[in-house]
Formats: sequence, structure tokens, C-alpha cells
Amino acid sequence: MKLLVTGGAGYVGSVVTAQLLEAGHEVVVLDDLSTGHADAVPAGARLVQGTLREKAAGVLAEGGFDAVLHFAAKSLVGESVQKPWLYWDGNLGESLALLDAMRAAGTSRIVFSSTAATYGEPEETPIVETAPTRPTNPYGMSKLAIDTALAEYARLFGIGAVSLRYFNVAGARLVEGGAQGERHAVETHLIPNVLKVALGEKESVSVFGEDYPTPDGTCLRDYIHVVDLGVAHLLALDACAPSTHQIFNLGSGSGYSVREVIDMCREVTGHAIPAEVGPRRPGDPAILVASSEKIRTALGWKPERDLRAMVTDAWTFVQGR
Ligand code: UDP
Repeated sequence: MKLLVTGGAGYVGSVVTAQLLEAGHEVVVLDDLSTGHADAVPAGARLVQGTLREKAAGVLAEGGFDAVLHFAAKSLVGESVQKPWLYWDGNLGESLALLDAMRAAGTSRIVFSSTAATYGEPEETPIVETAPTRPTNPYGMSKLAIDTALAEYARLFGIGAVSLRYFNVAGARLVEGGAQGERHAVETHLIPNVLKVALGEKESVSVFGEDYPTPDGTCLRDYIHVVDLGVAHLLALDACAPSTHQIFNLGSGSGYSVREVIDMCREVTGHAIPAEVGPRRPGDPAILVASSEKIRTALGWKPERDLRAMVTDAWTFVQGR
């Protein structure tokens, strides 16, 4: 297939681009490089630099595109609370421009990076796709609005759309002669921050709260290896069906605590990794775990790589940089 990957210079987008190329697809990456890296785009994909508003219509008008995989987004929860307009415009506005470009060009399939943040504070875990969607920040709100737009475009214009709702993504894709992993200028995520301590770039890691109603008092999260996540995108691409918007959670059904993650990083790296307990981070739910029943049943997907593999691959990746 001929595919447009928006945000293909970012963490998840670059991994999926590599997997699509490996599967024999032709890939054009559209990325404004505001947070992505040109050198993360795998060799074999053509990179067009620009925003979706600036470039999506022109690229799709070349013709022959079978589908779009849409990763380009702003994704910092804290920033979204400070500057919500960046998220309404940058996520929803840009995505609407993409959808109109697809309609004009007759490209009728899209796989979208949605998020667990669309659910907000869960009433029940593991979270199922029919759970109420009550985002607690503009980031989650903007992603939910895009999911709604996809459902509308499916109903009104017959596109086939799949939204994949990610929980915690970790790890790296390691191949001979190249690797794709997490490289954020502002790093908020747990595993890369713990590995910075192992690398000697930080003195200690802060544990954001130890008084949650969980077995060891720290938050539980559902971590998925980025390579497993990518596999789900390839399956979703094949599952796009005309006039239908489908939503799948991407999780494992179980969680790891912040303490368990830090312990695994100690084991894998062989470094002591001092940890200091600090206050809770505002907005963090105690437990965020996804049910993956729906995608297992519908697409036959299940995560294959455990926390040890995620930390091991992320560690190899950051050491190579
Ligand atoms: N966390 C932490 N210290 C850090 C970064 C994160 O204790 O330096 C905790 C955070 O409070 C949450 C978990 O680790 O409970 C995962 O956070 P992350 O930002 O990686 O992902 P999120 O679940 O917020 O999407």
C-alpha cells in the first residue's frame, strides 16, 4: 500500500514507519519537526516537512494513497493545561485539515493515535472501550474531539477509521544499522527519566507520591512495548472498514507500579538509581490499566514483550545515543 504517516519523525510514528516499510509498504512521512527528528525517519520513507494544514492536501493530491496513519500531535498534558489553544488548534484543527485533505483526495482509511487520556479518571479497571469518556485535561479533550470527528466522517463520508487508545508506551525498536526510541526535549515519562539517572545525567528519580491506594502506594500503569504497539497499527490498517469508526484500547490488562519500574531499571542497568519520594503529581489517577479483550478478540493482537524487554531495549537505545 501507499501510506501517509503524519508525525513519522516522532517516537511511535518512526517505529511504525519502520515496520510498515519492512512489511513492504511505500511510506511518505509528513512532520513539521517541531518535536520529531529528521534522522529518526527510517531510510526508505520520504520526508515532507510541514504542518498538516500546510502540506497534507498537496501530498495526498499526488494520488494513490491507500491510507493515513495519523500520529502528529502535541502530547504534553501539563502544557495543554497552561496553553489549551495549542491543543485545540494543533491537535483538533490540524486533524480536521487532514480529514478534509483526505476527503478531497479520496483517501478513505485512517488509523489514529488516540489516548487513554480520553477516559480520564476511571470508575472501573481494567478500562474497557465503552467506559465513559471524561478527559481531565485539554490534551485528552482534543484527542476525544478528533475521535468524534472520525466517527462523523465515517458516518457522513464513508471513511474507515480506527482509533487506537494508548496507555503507557515504552521501549525502543532496535535493528542493525538503526534504532528508533524515545527522544523528547522535555522528558516527563517515567522510564526515560529513571534511565537518565542510570546514565549519570540526573542524580535521582522522583517518585510522585507513595500514598495511593495500591499495593506499594505508588501508581500502577499499563506499559506496552513500542514494537507491540506498532504491530497493532498494522493490524488496524487492515481492519479499517468503510463507514465505520472502531476504537481499541492498547494495553496488557495488568499494571506495574512506579516502584516496580524503578526496580526493573536497577536490575537491567546494574546501577543503584537513587529514588526520592516527592508529592503526588496533580492529575495522576492511582491506577490506569486497559482491558485488551476487544483487540485480542477482533484483531488477534496481544502484547508479546514484558517490562524487562521494554527497559532493556530503552537502555540499549539511550546508551547508543
Ligand atoms: N512518575 C514518577 N516520576 C517521574 C515520572 C513519572 O513517579 O519522574 C510516575 C507518574 O506519577 C505516573 C507514572 O510514573 O504515576 C507514569 O508516568 P508517565 O509520565 O511515564 O506516564 P503517564 O501515566 O502519566 O502517561
